[in-house]
Amino acid sequence: MDPRTRALGRAHEHALSWFASLGERPVPPAATADEVADRLGRALPDDPCTPADVVDLLAEACEAGLTAMPSGRFYGMVIGGTEPAALAADWLVSAWDQNNGLRGLTPATAAVEEVAATWLLDLLGLPADAGVGFPTSATTANLTCLLAARDSILREAGWDAAANGLAGAPGLRVLMGAEGHESVRYALRYLGLGAPETVPADRQGRLDPDALVGALRPGEPTIVVLQAGNVHSGAFDPFGPAIAAAQAAGAWVHVDGAFGLFAAASARLRHLTDGFEEADSWTTDAHKTLNVPYDCGIAIVRSAEALRAVTGKTGAYLVLGEVGEPCDRVPELSRRARGVPVWAVLRSLGRSGVADLVDGFCRHATAFAEGIRRLPGAEVLNDVVYTQVCVAFGDDERTQAITRAVLEDGTAWMSGSRWQGRAALRVSVSNWATTSDDVRRALGALAHAVETA
Ligand SMILES: *Cc1c(COP(=O)(O)O)cnc(C)c1O
Repeated sequence: MDPRTRALGRAHEHALSWFASLGERPVPPAATADEVADRLGRALPDDPCTPADVVDLLAEACEAGLTAMPSGRFYGMVIGGTEPAALAADWLVSAWDQNNGLRGLTPATAAVEEVAATWLLDLLGLPADAGVGFPTSATTANLTCLLAARDSILREAGWDAAANGLAGAPGLRVLMGAEGHESVRYALRYLGLGAPETVPADRQGRLDPDALVGALRPGEPTIVVLQAGNVHSGAFDPFGPAIAAAQAAGAWVHVDGAFGLFAAASARLRHLTDGFEEADSWTTDAHKTLNVPYDCGIAIVRSAEALRAVTGKTGAYLVLGEVGEPCDRVPELSRRARGVPVWAVLRSLGRSGVADLVDGFCRHATAFAEGIRRLPGAEVLNDVVYTQVCVAFGDDERTQAITRAVLEDGTAWMSGSRWQGRAALRVSVSNWATTSDDVRRALGALAHAVETA
């Protein structure tokens, strides 16, 4: 056997034993990063090692330091899972090793991404001719969309930012709901736009459209950032009135829907996104609700031309075609074909399967909320409209003690957080692998933590 075949065989075996361990292993890791680093060896060895042995060393050193994120009982952050077809397709992406930048050079993976983009726009009910790029994350997708927004709005104000930069440019306001995601702030920082002005939000974290009307100054260059899916409540901003007001004032409207945009793929949940299709750009993650492996964000811009104007590439050695190249839609030049697992999960689930996936997350979240309401002292803080449940148990100290007890128990992972001035325990359901039995086991662990904390 050649070294590559042996190494891939070992990797396959380690992957299968990892999956086999997920049913019963505690969800939190058993080793710290320092302990794993010690096991890996701190000094660079002089001698080589066969690829198969490297895979064994790596798997053995890492085993105890792995968090069971692919388990059906991981409910921290908004993590997603990896649907089997998407995982297998991702392995092929590594084996194919295509630098997915140019249609002429990497026609297969360029085509897969083009089909995936068309399917996504159809599934979400967004304009069929929008520009779609696959950057690494929602943060970089927000960056990409807001870059298109910045340069388009400044161009309308008579300023060419691509040629002249930002020094001396007309003032550009960015308005965002008070509970907009932190990553939008990072993107604005990277773009030299400073911190956004915040617009008040209601008890569920939804931007107040009347407050937005009051904050807008028609005629001033403005970007308005709305949100589909608040990480604490799961709530969606009121897109209809907010977008109408913003666009009447001449603003560009961007929607950050890192995990919420896929509500539009479900007939039952689509009402949450009503009116969102009128925006100018949208961000989502495929590695969250759509359950592809890390890292895969999606940047969608209504005007494909506006996207290409900011991320389009030039270069003597690039043979660029008329229809636009994979590298024209993202900030990166060289990159893996990360849209391929997106195609795979969409082909695996089909339109109905994506709807069932998202509906299932929501059903499990509702079951969590019902179970939690029966626990002594528990208060569900949000209206559970989507995949998120936010809970407090009396005062902050008690909520934090229960959060610690759940993590120590290890049956499930739920994150501690702060929301609207209170300590909270957050449950986020976003993995295809979660079953009703997982929810029952996790609720049992939480009940135990409430008894013992
Ligand atoms: C997770 C999240 C982001 C950031 O996504 P990354 O892929 O981690 O960069 C942005 N906005 C919202 C609403 C999110 O939930």
